[in-house]
Amino acid sequence: MDMTEIQHALNASEQGSAMYRMIEELYPICRSITGNGVRQTLHGIQQYIPVEVHEVPSGTQVFDWRVPLEWNIRDAYIAAQDGTRVVDFRRCNLHVMSYSVPIKSRMSLKDLQAHLHTLPDRPEWIPYRTSYYKDNWGFCLSHNQLKQLPDTDYEVYIDSSLESGHLTYGECFLPGESAEEVLISTHICHPSLCNDNLSGIAVSAFLCRALQNMQHKLSYRFLFIPGTIGSITWLAMNQEHTNWIRHGLVLTGVGDAGAITYKRSRRGEAKVDLVTTHVLQYSNEPYKIIDFFPYGYDERQYCSPGFNLPVGCLMRTPHGEYSEYHTSADDLEFVRSGSLHNTLSLCLKILFVLENDRIPISLNPYCEPQLGKRGLYRAVAGQKEGALQEMALLWVMNLADGRHSLLDIANKARMPFDVVHTAAKALSDHGLLN
Ligand code: ZN
Repeated sequence: MDMTEIQHALNASEQGSAMYRMIEELYPICRSITGNGVRQTLHGIQQYIPVEVHEVPSGTQVFDWRVPLEWNIRDAYIAAQDGTRVVDFRRCNLHVMSYSVPIKSRMSLKDLQAHLHTLPDRPEWIPYRTSYYKDNWGFCLSHNQLKQLPDTDYEVYIDSSLESGHLTYGECFLPGESAEEVLISTHICHPSLCNDNLSGIAVSAFLCRALQNMQHKLSYRFLFIPGTIGSITWLAMNQEHTNWIRHGLVLTGVGDAGAITYKRSRRGEAKVDLVTTHVLQYSNEPYKIIDFFPYGYDERQYCSPGFNLPVGCLMRTPHGEYSEYHTSADDLEFVRSGSLHNTLSLCLKILFVLENDRIPISLNPYCEPQLGKRGLYRAVAGQKEGALQEMALLWVMNLADGRHSLLDIANKARMPFDVVHTAAKALSDHGLLN
């Protein structure tokens, strides 16, 4: 993997708008932690990358959890007495609480109220609600719509099923020269929400596609899994294999206009934490780095103490810190192709460092080598352009003592990794480094 390949991947056919189009395609699907919406989504992702679909039977014990019954939904509505659908699942899949049990009943608005969810603070938005592990049913609607409902009887209908079936997830493995792996994980369990879900899917898929066209030393494993239960299931079924995971990122909420946030792994100073910090420092944009805490997305499972994998979480505005989070306002207007492209670019830069970092050893440790006679020194002293590259040569030669990696050198020299990497390559080419 080199910078030219990365530039090529980023320039290729306007990646930002292509990711945005992928989000548009997947937006209408009603996803949950199990069911046909997940299968349909994985089928959609397969149009971009070769994802292998896995099905794990309901009831399978996975650590302290069990794979739940499979949930599917065909139709749902609240209808007025004349049959008019006042709340209609077909118009917006957020209207039905995910994992709602089936119901067909007639009831007063008063009795129905206990099953209605709104956002009084944001009266125009529909909330997103789930009830995965408790039998329940419910509808979500805008507070304005609720206020307009006449106090009368309504027909309530949810045509859903909760049956023994499967938990479905997708996996795409790209073998590298080494069996050491980078894990990229994203959740696929939210219905029509764009930033919290589809943005992570799109950036993961395009990252995978970019890697397919590059030489890479490390192997890459992409997981497209339902949140929490999906990573628990994958970890339970691949417990031994996790020893191969050297670095990992959970990608989530990466399409909004906010600045990048990186949540460190539980280890705090894992390679992926140091590399991401370095890349962000030289990104010339605002960012925030936060410590691990046991809440959020699937990093909670990867970083549970038994695994303690070096997996951080890359997002833009953290979940819960934007008001559109888990509401109908997390829609196609909330995500931006520029943010998607920027996140993809950042991921590629992180992978570039992971791929290319190494510990150089000087073959000329006694005093500085004479760079001039090798054509490595600026021809004209004082020329500005060469200065950074020249300092990089001197830093690498000085710190190539077997105790500093290229990333350590870049940090000590306060230079971006790729400048130090380029210098090290020139020095190797001239036989000065091992
Ligand atoms: Zn969410």
